[in-house]
Formats: sequence, C-alpha cells, structure tokens
Amino acid sequence: MPHAIPDAVIPHRRTAYRPDVVEGDDDPKASKLGGTPWLPEGTTHPVCPNCNHPMPLLLQLDVATLPDPARYGGTGLLQLFYCTNAEPLCEVDCEAFFPNAKSVVARRVDSTTKGAASAVEGERFEAKRIVGWEATDDYPNWEEGEELGITGLDDATIDALGEDWPLTGEKLAGWPAWVQGIEYPECTECGEPQALVFQIDSEGLLDYGWGDMGVAHLTQCSAHPDHLSFGWACG
Ligand SMILES: [Zn+2]
Ligand SMILES: [Zn+2]
Repeated sequence: MPHAIPDAVIPHRRTAYRPDVVEGDDDPKASKLGGTPWLPEGTTHPVCPNCNHPMPLLLQLDVATLPDPARYGGTGLLQLFYCTNAEPLCEVDCEAFFPNAKSVVARRVDSTTKGAASAVEGERFEAKRIVGWEATDDYPNWEEGEELGITGLDDATIDALGEDWPLTGEKLAGWPAWVQGIEYPECTECGEPQALVFQIDSEGLLDYGWGDMGVAHLTQCSAHPDHLSFGWACG
C-alpha cells in the first residue's frame, strides 16, 4: 500500500509508463530492450572507439508509438548503444556513467527510409519487445521536490514518500529515480536540462548492473530531439 501523498506534492504528479514486454526479436523496427537494432541505409552499427568492438543495443524506441510526454520529435527510432566490454573495461576507461561518453551512443535515426536489421556480429542482450505501456503515477524525490518549492514536510513523511517514489525499475517518462544528486544533462545545443525519456534499473529487464545497483537514464532535449544523453549513478 503506497503512502498517502501530501497536498503539497500532488501538483507534481507525472504519469510514468511501465513497458509490457514479450521475449523475441521478430520486428526489427519495434520498441525493445536488447536485441538487434534496425539501421537506415547509410547508418552504421556503432563501434566502441576504446575497444573497436560493436556496441550492443540496450534500447530502441519507436518514437511515433510512444505515449505523448516522451514523443519528442514525433518520428524516428531512438537507439541506445553501450559498450559492455570488460577487457578493456570501457565503462571505466571512458567514464560511461557521465553523459556523452565515447563508449555510448544515444541517437535518433530516420525510420522512414530503406534499411534493415543490423547484420553486425557481436554481443547482444536478450531481446524483449515492448508491446504496450502501463500508465502509473510518479512523484519527484525530495531533493527535486525542494527545488520545485515543496516545503513544510516532516522527516517521517519525506522518508515514507522516498520508499515509494520516484518509481524504480524500467519506465518511460515520469520522475527520475536519482541515486546521487539531480543530474539532468544539459542539451549541447541550447543548454537547457534534458527531459527523462527512459529509466533502466540494474538487473531489471536488462541483464546488466550499473555499478553497485545503480540506475541509468536516457534523456532528450524536448526542443532539439536529436540531442540525447545517457548517464548512470550508483550508491
Ligand atoms: Zn569498448
Ligand atoms: Zn536543446
């Protein structure tokens, strides 16, 4: 049973969307975690510049099918690639927890042109196709709430809210479950903080851990939808 939401917090409710997934990778352009990306003609499967291995796909989202708050740009496929090589340990060499690391590619590609599923051999995460989204309420963490002007809550209430919110696990939109401080990357075009598109938890739908049970976030500028970032933090 979730704790009651104080009146001061209610106006900051957002809708987050939990992905419903099925195993399998039969549709190359589908929204999915893991599996094989779809590549427009002329666009290559990203290769890690640190180890020269193809990067596995973590996430692909078909923008036009997403619930409204995360449909920035309206079309295309969002693709997130992340080098998981352990030898060398690219995640550490490239400081892949920070946005814009060179062992990470977060991009939007045109899905209306000719193209095909990537034929590149390499590491793959087990494919989980997203077949639907379940809407659920989400609320900010306390530090973010303070920045929004929420005051006057006692410690017990703050602790209780923190047990329920923001939602952990995988979700589209909503409020980021920050493990350290608030870390919205800035758009390199306009300098504005990017919006949360998708949160990936440790050992959830993807068989991967962000450091010691950290949480990762794919973010995007709402005004410049080709500017995406990815970062993670752990305790
Ligand atoms: Zn690498
Ligand atoms: Zn921007």
